[in-house]
Amino acid sequence: MADQQYDFFESVTRSFDKAAKFTRWETGILEQIKACNAVYRMRFPIRRDDGSIEVIEAYRAQHSHHKTPCKGGIRYSDMVNQDEVMALSALMTFKCAIVNVPFGGAKGGIKINPNKYSAFELQKITRRYTSELVKKNYIGPGTDVPAPDYGTGEREMAWILDTYMTMRPGEIDGMGCVTGKPITQGGVRGRKEATGLGVFYGVREVCSMPDVMEKLGMTTGIEGKRVIVQGLGNVGYHTAKFFREHGAKIIAIAEYEGAIYNENGLNEEEVFQYRKANKSILNFPGATNIPKSSDALEMECDILIPAALENVINASNAEKIKAKMIGEAANGPLSPEADDILIKKGILVIPDMYLNAGGVTVSYFEWLKNLSHVRYGRMEKRFTENLNRHIIHQMEELTGKSVNPDDKILIEHGPDEVDLVYSGLEQTMIEATREIMACWKANDKIPDMRTAAYVVAIDKVGTSYAELGIFP
Ligand code: NAD
Repeated sequence: MADQQYDFFESVTRSFDKAAKFTRWETGILEQIKACNAVYRMRFPIRRDDGSIEVIEAYRAQHSHHKTPCKGGIRYSDMVNQDEVMALSALMTFKCAIVNVPFGGAKGGIKINPNKYSAFELQKITRRYTSELVKKNYIGPGTDVPAPDYGTGEREMAWILDTYMTMRPGEIDGMGCVTGKPITQGGVRGRKEATGLGVFYGVREVCSMPDVMEKLGMTTGIEGKRVIVQGLGNVGYHTAKFFREHGAKIIAIAEYEGAIYNENGLNEEEVFQYRKANKSILNFPGATNIPKSSDALEMECDILIPAALENVINASNAEKIKAKMIGEAANGPLSPEADDILIKKGILVIPDMYLNAGGVTVSYFEWLKNLSHVRYGRMEKRFTENLNRHIIHQMEELTGKSVNPDDKILIEHGPDEVDLVYSGLEQTMIEATREIMACWKANDKIPDMRTAAYVVAIDKVGTSYAELGIFP
């Protein structure tokens, strides 16, 4: 019974145990890091549009309080259950630790298929869920900060914020009770593309490491790399965009109805618009159709980016993968069996737990913005521009030469919010990549980058617990 109920959570703890043996922590501390600290399971009624009353099942799990607030998305799906929110909250703890976002992991879920409810009903469910969280102190800028996940977005986050502020009037930092909000409601610029951009920064950093690239039989850099992307949704679209803009060639894009291939490279925006107009990616001008979508995963390429769903590379197809490197943009695109096969084949897998952490990183920036009550760049933009203009003027006077007008615009530019968010995310992803690689290189018994990422995460959470002094 217990095994049945905690399948996903147990699979996370299995990966944890695999990595834990490479850390220095005693069993008791490891047990505490692994445990899911608190789960709030609730049921509440709502009246549906047809007049009937329905009882809704919902959860919020707080996996770790080694740092607070806790952080993690809220998903609306009829697959939601306690095991899933516990497992996802554990992954959030490790994800936040890897990218140095000072939160404990959490996850929430409401067991509904949002497509079967009207906007009015969804609003009632969201507001009631929020008020249940408020009543039990399971939400707040200093306790637990939700964000969007499957089936939720800016709209739901705005409802959560409004409900919270109604119940906690005058709370000065109340806006930081949730992230992923619309810009007008305290959201931050750059949040939408954050995950795809983070994937790009992470892969680019790996591609800049000569020893790693040599082992894989590739040259360093992104320029000219042949990339295949599965899923042209939020993450896949933006990942493809940033790769293309930095000189890579997107040679194939896969969607659920099929895939398309063009050795000269595809433009994701054109493909996106074509698919919107034609309801299918197939027959895109200049491209070759691949009727069976999953075949695209098995094509020869430098970098494969699964950005659609979980378990797409598994025991049945892992042997046929010809990519040299896989960047896990989606959550859980590889099964554990696939992992083992790919290690043997010498394919480098850059793990989801850190590679798709761009979203939570920028959520952290949003939370900081809410606590500081000022838009990024507001105080320094004009000052920086005046200073830069003055420096250029002085240089031109001293040298007697003028700076090229395009360069002048670039140098004079003072940072806007989006510039600072991008730069913070870039630094975060570079640091995390280097930290994981350094850990992997320091111990040749660590089998793969995923285990190295877990080791880094466990060490950080362990240090935090040890320094909290809760193990006298
Ligand atoms: P999305 O719904 O915007 O996009 C998913 C895309 O995949 C859709 O276009 C869908 O049509 C396509 N797809 C579905 N089945 C497919 C199949 N069998 N073959 C090919 N394509 C298929 O979702 P998203 O937000 O881009 O998330 C994608 C993945 O990234 C998920 O695993 C999600 O958990 C993960 N992720 C997302 C974020 C984020 O910020 N959005 C953050 C971290 C992780």
